[in-house]
Amino acid sequence: MSGGMNDDELVHREVPSPNHGERTLPISMAVIHYTEMQPVEAALERMCDPASSVSAHYCITEAGEVIRLVPEDRRAWHAGASYWRGIPDVNSVSIGIELDHPGHALGYRGFAEAQIDALIPLLARIVKQYDIPRANVVGHSCVAPMRKIDPGELFPWDRLADYNLCLPRAECLAAGDPFHNEGSFFMALERFGYDITDQAKAVEAFERRWRPERITGLPNGEIAAILWQLLLDRDQGRTR
Ligand SMILES: [Zn+2]
Repeated sequence: MSGGMNDDELVHREVPSPNHGERTLPISMAVIHYTEMQPVEAALERMCDPASSVSAHYCITEAGEVIRLVPEDRRAWHAGASYWRGIPDVNSVSIGIELDHPGHALGYRGFAEAQIDALIPLLARIVKQYDIPRANVVGHSCVAPMRKIDPGELFPWDRLADYNLCLPRAECLAAGDPFHNEGSFFMALERFGYDITDQAKAVEAFERRWRPERITGLPNGEIAAILWQLLLDRDQGRTR
C-alpha cells in the first residue's frame, strides 16, 4: 500500500493546515502528543495558523473524532528540535498525532476512552503501512526530553502494547544494576534512542515512558534493569 485514500475510512474530518514541507527521509516513526489547549478548535486553529509554524498529521478529539491536517507524505511540524536513535530530524521520518487534552498546564488527567479507541486503529494502519518498528512509536518527551513532557505519565502505552503498536513494559528484570557505571548506563540510554545531552532530563523522559509511577531524573538499579531488558529484547530480535 502507498499513502493516499486507503485510510479515509478512519478519518472523520479534514482541516487542512498550510504548515508542512518536503520529507527528506522515509517514514519510520510515529510520535504521540497532547495539545495542551482547550477547546480542540483552539488547537486546530493554532495548527492551521502559518504564524505558529506548528502542525501535525492528525488530531484526535476526546470524543474520538479523527481530524487530518497534513497528508502523510508531507513533513508536518510537530516534533520541533528532536532526536531519536541517531536521527536528528524526527519530523522528516515521522507521523505526528496530537491528542486533544488539557496537558500538564491546564489540569493533567487520564486520556478519554473514546480517544484511545480512535487512536488504536489509526496507529495500527500507520504502523502496518510503513512497517514502523515498535520501538519507534514514541511520545514527544522521548524525542525532545529537554523541552517536552507530553503525552505524559498517564498515557496508556499498555493499551497500545496490547495491540503490538509499541513496546510493552520490560519484564524479567535483571537483579541489581546491570551496568558497570553511570557512563555505561548513559551510553546504553543513548543507544536505545534518547538524546542524553541533559542527563537528568533524559532519565526523566525514560521514567515517564517506562516507569511512570515515579519520576526522579536519577538513574538507579530499577531504571537500569528496565533499560537493560529493553536493549536485550531488541538485540535478541524479540523487538525492534
Ligand atoms: Zn508535543
